[in-house]
Amino acid sequence: MSRFWSDIVHKLTPYVPGEQPKVSNLIKLNTNENPYGPSPKVLDALKAEANDSLRLYPDPNADLLKGAIARYYSVSQKQVFVGNGSDEVLAHAFQGLLKHAEPLLYPDITYSFYPVYCGLYNVPFETVPLTDAFDINVDDYLVTNGQKANGGIIFPNPNAPTGKLLALSSIETLLKVNTDTVVVIDEAYIDFGGESAIALVDQYPNLLVVQTFSKSRSLAGLRIGFAVGHPDLIEGLERVKNSFNSYPLDRFAINGGVAALADEAYFQQTCNAIIETRESLVRELTALGFDVLPSAANFVFARHKESKADAIASKLREEAIIVRHFKQERVQDFLRITIGTNDECDALVKALTDILKD
Ligand SMILES: *Cc1c(COP(=O)(O)O)cnc(C)c1O
Repeated sequence: MSRFWSDIVHKLTPYVPGEQPKVSNLIKLNTNENPYGPSPKVLDALKAEANDSLRLYPDPNADLLKGAIARYYSVSQKQVFVGNGSDEVLAHAFQGLLKHAEPLLYPDITYSFYPVYCGLYNVPFETVPLTDAFDINVDDYLVTNGQKANGGIIFPNPNAPTGKLLALSSIETLLKVNTDTVVVIDEAYIDFGGESAIALVDQYPNLLVVQTFSKSRSLAGLRIGFAVGHPDLIEGLERVKNSFNSYPLDRFAINGGVAALADEAYFQQTCNAIIETRESLVRELTALGFDVLPSAANFVFARHKESKADAIASKLREEAIIVRHFKQERVQDFLRITIGTNDECDALVKALTDILKD
């Protein structure tokens, strides 16, 4: 508290990121980072950038990276926006595309940054409950609030922290009916088993698809996010960005991102390894008495039939394994467990076996 703060600062409820402990030798399964390092080609690209050119500002438009993303997804460069992590891209979308008189709609159980941006930018919103099976039912977004129009719709696909995937056909059903406001699909985890809605951007001018290099491309530390959508939506984001920070992506991010997209073999190999580990972890957790929601992400969301989630989490911590527990209603019985390497997941299962024996 300080009398020097602007009014809005008193009212903010900031996002609380998963812990980044300063001690080593932890098995860190709490923030959905990739257990494998980035492509060696990315590291080479970063080393090549560590030179005298750092005295110069980077390209404010990051055209090199935008071009690489456009080619990768077969869209035009005018359909691509890039930002300092997808959190920044999302922030600009909240401010520039989703703030209207009618409420923005998003699920009751979802990425907890959404309410934070609503608070920061004063965006009116309403939450739409997931079904009892923790699914997004798109019909629930079409007739809410007594048929009143919405100011926009946003949800992650796969959803966080449930990991559940919504079929692309359901997203298209939503887009066919909801034509007057922007629909943002936050695809932070799409590369672990889903089909990207980028395939639909040419048909639906109100669709914005947001992705990140933090999870599937193992570059959380470099901060690269992007959005793909109609050039008019992208222009709206550019206007916000150029009123905020001209250079959100530094020289390392621009060139490292390009190198990451160029190493498709490494990308495929690491994504597939995570998917395989996920499937075997699901089997093992189920055998230990957990209900595990079907996941298309690099994490699983699981609740034990008898033991309490917060108790399990604190016992795991004593064994130097950290997972994420949310105190929120409807999900306080669940643990969100990031998929690590096979060795890390084996250690987790071994620790859980001991904990659940007592
Ligand atoms: C991790 C995550 C992000 C943010 O990713 P960054 O690009 O690292 O900012 C956005 N949305 C969801 C749903 C996420 O889980």
